[in-house]
Amino acid sequence: MARPAFELAGTRVEPGGRAQIDVPVAKLYTHAPLHIPVEVVHGRQKGPVILVCGAIHGDEINSVEIVRRLLRSRAIARLRGTLIAVPIVNVFGFVQHSRYLPDRRDLNRCFPGSGEGSLGSRVASLFREQIVDQATHIIDLHTGAIHRTNLPQIRAQLTSHPETASMADAFGAPVILNAELREGSLRHYAQNRGVPVLTYEAGEALRFDEWAIAPGVRGVLRVMRRLGMLAGEHRRRRPPPAEVANGSSWARAPIDGILRPRVRLGARVSRGQVLGLVADPFGNAEGEVKATADGIVIGMGNLPLANEGEALFHVARFEAIEEAENAVESFQSDYEPSNGLS
Ligand SMILES: [Zn+2]
Repeated sequence: MARPAFELAGTRVEPGGRAQIDVPVAKLYTHAPLHIPVEVVHGRQKGPVILVCGAIHGDEINSVEIVRRLLRSRAIARLRGTLIAVPIVNVFGFVQHSRYLPDRRDLNRCFPGSGEGSLGSRVASLFREQIVDQATHIIDLHTGAIHRTNLPQIRAQLTSHPETASMADAFGAPVILNAELREGSLRHYAQNRGVPVLTYEAGEALRFDEWAIAPGVRGVLRVMRRLGMLAGEHRRRRPPPAEVANGSSWARAPIDGILRPRVRLGARVSRGQVLGLVADPFGNAEGEVKATADGIVIGMGNLPLANEGEALFHVARFEAIEEAENAVESFQSDYEPSNGLS
């Protein structure tokens, strides 16, 4: 029996077909229409409907490249179920190289949104009604903010849905953060609807970090395989299982000044260890940035200029720190992130 066609924003995609759909969001005040670009791949056989979306924060372009490579991947030719791929959700911010919307709102704090609210609220509402609400599973792709980089990591509430932990495990990122939800985020909205959802955080805003993109593409394909959407083999060896962090905290600049980092992204550090030095330009005053716990550096600032109190090193804590270190080392030998120290 043939599967029904999939319909998105008035476009029908027949089983075995794919379509690129421009979902109208708004008009610019120049009168130019603005669209969210979407590609739907509708398999011949039934299965989950997975939404993979990037650039809800408009400057997080690693995520856009992950979606492009996913859509070019031959693995999805014989898909079971449906892939809704949205390379750029915040099209306004993407054009402006900005994380935010033109009204300076963060789209990822605007869900579920409303058709009568602010611009952010309207875009969230439209994206939700046309696209998000059709998905049975979601992977939301992010990077660190501007001048900040993240070791590839999955953020999810692992106990929220029986499938969430399985998706997080399948992804194969070196670190999983059992992260709390931000009110108004896509993840918060989806999870409250009972939809299993992962956030992948990797690399830096406004950059292409190959060590964030390549494992992102593989991770999405691995999740789709786990969900039974893709047949076929794992061509690559499976990475060691990620350790789940049981918390994280930021080490902050003790004084205003210029930072010299002393550790790399992914480093294992111990409580009290000096992660970097901050000095004024003369070197008269110098302060140490110290780790507040044993853990792994999963995020750090790349801009060497810091104000007192600025978050510089994100350290995740683990029950099984050895295993966490192994997972990160294995990841780094595969992808070799180079960062921080020269
Ligand atoms: Zn983001």
